[in-house]
Amino acid sequence: MFAVLAVCESPRATQQPAPDPTPAPRGPATFLKGQLHLHSNNSGDSRTPPDEVARWYAAHGYDFIVFTDHNRVTDTADVGDMLVLPGMEITMNVDDCDPPPEGPLCPLHVNALAIDLHAPAPSVPSPADHRRDTLYRHGIALARSLGAIAQINHPNFHYAVDAALLATLAGEGPLLVEIANEAIDSNNAGDARHPSTEAIWDDALRRGAVVWGTATDDAHHYADAEAVRAAGELAFEGDRGWVMVRADRDADAIAAALLRGDFYATNGALLDEVGCAATGLHVVPSDRRARIECIDAAGVRAPGSDGLTCALGDRFVRARVHDRAGRTAWTQPCFSAPRAGADAG
Ligand SMILES: [Zn+2]
Ligand SMILES: [Zn+2]
Repeated sequence: MFAVLAVCESPRATQQPAPDPTPAPRGPATFLKGQLHLHSNNSGDSRTPPDEVARWYAAHGYDFIVFTDHNRVTDTADVGDMLVLPGMEITMNVDDCDPPPEGPLCPLHVNALAIDLHAPAPSVPSPADHRRDTLYRHGIALARSLGAIAQINHPNFHYAVDAALLATLAGEGPLLVEIANEAIDSNNAGDARHPSTEAIWDDALRRGAVVWGTATDDAHHYADAEAVRAAGELAFEGDRGWVMVRADRDADAIAAALLRGDFYATNGALLDEVGCAATGLHVVPSDRRARIECIDAAGVRAPGSDGLTCALGDRFVRARVHDRAGRTAWTQPCFSAPRAGADAG
């Protein structure tokens, strides 16, 4: 996430699939392990060639990966059973934006996931101003013009996105947001003056947004990670945060599941079952002694008497699962009532 590149111009265009915020039905779980944020030497800030990156992820048990090089579409052949989906990190690094950055840089990054390589060339005009919402809308429009799913990356990297902006952006179509970008400098926990990425997500959900949370690597270093550390530099490593997607092993099925929120995010904790029902969110951790927290607009509470169900609360409910190894899984929210779209207030 640390490359410095200009606001990117449009590469190509197609229709974004229609929003489908319907909660996922509960059912037999067949989850695919997927990575939604990674870099190769096509990014300029990684030394590892795409083929080698793909083999690294295949060796770590992934079912699919999406390449997200800075302002460049990378695609390679599948590796065995592991699908490789083309993508791009639309990397808008500007030195001024409104509201202004707290430091010298305003890095606003949007992943375009599962790009349609056959889409016609896009016609997305460059932003006329540097308001944050204008720039993000440009990135999202560009991603969708590529037939891709848009993901707001690392909201707390230079504190790029707050809840009001996230809710506004989510009002224009299905959107993903990284709540657990596992890179070293993503500031997921926030600080005394900034809410955590989860708090931003919850606030956006409270405002009526439909936005699905992801965990990702944002990896730049692979076999070279040890050498990078030995040289005293920061290593941005892989297999630290990913998504588990309920889909057949097919690129279109994976994209559809991501759009409808039929997946969970994790840094290692696994779920056997998760889904929304009339009574609430039902979740079965693979570690039967994992601790489940139910989270809604009112805060955090324990599950109901069965220990596995989070009753629907005000607007939404989601679950956070902590296994005994100290790892976490984050489910998507279940919603209480039909929503009319985001209200940014
Ligand atoms: Zn990145
Ligand atoms: Zn980034």
